[in-house]
Amino acid sequence: MVKRFEILKEREQGVPALLYPDATSRKGDSAPSDASLVASNTRLRIAETFTSRQGEGQLTGVPSFFIRTSGCNLRCWFCDTPYASWKPEGKQFTIDSLLNDAQNASMPMADDRATDEDSSRGTDTSIRVQHVVLTGGEPLIAAGFPELATTLQNAGFHVTVETAGTVDVDFPCDLLSLSPKLRGSTPDAAEHPTWSQTHEERRMPVTTMRQLISRSSNIQVKFVVDSPDEFDEILGVVADLEVAASDVWIMPQGVTVAQLDAAATWLAPWASEHGFEYCDRMQIRWYGNRRGT
Ligand code: SF4
Repeated sequence: MVKRFEILKEREQGVPALLYPDATSRKGDSAPSDASLVASNTRLRIAETFTSRQGEGQLTGVPSFFIRTSGCNLRCWFCDTPYASWKPEGKQFTIDSLLNDAQNASMPMADDRATDEDSSRGTDTSIRVQHVVLTGGEPLIAAGFPELATTLQNAGFHVTVETAGTVDVDFPCDLLSLSPKLRGSTPDAAEHPTWSQTHEERRMPVTTMRQLISRSSNIQVKFVVDSPDEFDEILGVVADLEVAASDVWIMPQGVTVAQLDAAATWLAPWASEHGFEYCDRMQIRWYGNRRGT
C-alpha cells in the first residue's frame, strides 16, 4: 500500500510518473520469473546504447554493451546524462531488439592485444562483448526492466545494473552497482523548487537500498564526491547500509582530467584511510566527457 500511495502522491505533485507499473508485486524473495508479468512485446524508452569499456568500479576496463534507459526519478544538479533525466529523450526499443544489439556488440581488442602482425594479416582483432551494463537515468523505474535484465542474463551475459537505489524492484543481476545520492546532489531550491523538494525526499531511502543489496550476490556502492564536506555523510550511509568497506568505491566529481587530478590529492588518501576503493572515472581520461562512452 505504501508504494501505491507514493505513486499517487507523485502524480499529485505533477512529477513525471515513470515508476514501475506495480512495484508492490515485486517485493520480497520472488523469483526473477516475475518478469513474465510484463508483456513480451514490452518496449523501453532508451536514451542510447553503445559499446565501450566500463570506466568505473570493480569491472573497470571490461568491454561492455551499455543500455541507457531514459527517465529518472531524481534530478542531481551535476547530472552528466541530462538527456536521460532533466530532458529525457530517446526512442522505444523492444527487449528482443536490445538483446539482438547486445549479441552483435563487439569492440577492438585493447592495443596491447592487437599486434601489428594481426593487423597486416587482416586478422579479426575485435572481441565479442560479454558484459551488459543497464544504466540510466534510473533503469529501475522503466516498465519491463526486470524482464530485460532476465532476458540478457538468460542469454549468457554478465549483467551490471547501475542505480541510485531509490525504488524497490526485484530483478536479476550479476553486479548491483549502487550509487546513493548525497545531500549535495540536490538541485537549487530557488531555481527548481519542485524537483529540489522531490529529489531530497527520494534520494536516500535506506530501507529500499538494503532490500536491493540483500537480493544481490555481488555489489559495489559508489559515491561521487564533490568536497570533503561530504565525508561524514558518506560514513553515515556506509554504516546504515552495513556494507563492507571493500565494497565501497569513492570517485571524484569532475568532467575533466584536471578536475580528476586535483580531487585525487585530497580524496584518494581519505578513501585509503577508511579501507575504501578509490576509483577514477576512467571514461573521462580515455574519451573525455562525451556521450556514448
Ligand atoms: S540519479 Fe543519475 S541519471 Fe538521475 S539525475 Fe542523478 S546523476 Fe542524473
